[in-house]
Amino acid sequence: MGPADPQHLEWMGLALEEARRALTTEDVPIGAVVIGPDGTVLGSGRNEREAHGDPTAHAEVVAIREAAARLRERSVLDGGLGDGWRLEDCTLVVTLEPCAMCAGAIVLARIHRVVFGAWDEKAGAAGSVFDILRERRLNHWVEVYAGVQEEECGALLREFFSAHRSGESGRPQPADGSGDPSPVA
Ligand SMILES: [Zn+2]
Repeated sequence: MGPADPQHLEWMGLALEEARRALTTEDVPIGAVVIGPDGTVLGSGRNEREAHGDPTAHAEVVAIREAAARLRERSVLDGGLGDGWRLEDCTLVVTLEPCAMCAGAIVLARIHRVVFGAWDEKAGAAGSVFDILRERRLNHWVEVYAGVQEEECGALLREFFSAHRSGESGRPQPADGSGDPSPVA
């Protein structure tokens, strides 16, 4: 893969801003934005699992819901053209490789393209553990750009987990010292 598309880098900057906001609620810092066909932000989200006690409140799902709601509003203004939920020609940008749930939501939303930062070797569903986004048996395939601002996205997560480890020394750690608990993206 060549150097990252400058547009992808700019969008990842927005996703990183969202990720940092997750820190205010002690949530694992993961952020996402959905970019519309015209290049503007249609939806944004951060991981809010702890904030809402909701295991499905991942950054991607939050951003997809907001983007679909906005499209629906526009569709109503247009006199009902379009179904308001198909995010065709949209790009989802997220700081961590999507998990199986989020990759499923991305396919269901018919999102055209996904740009992600860090790989999630333990739960990633865009090439690490599964590749749901490019699963030939599904009826929708997604264009994937991986590793955009990977260093910065990964560092944010590592810092979060290392701060949590030092603050929770009473908690059992993996016996093999294998590092981070799953980021649950
Ligand atoms: Zn997820």
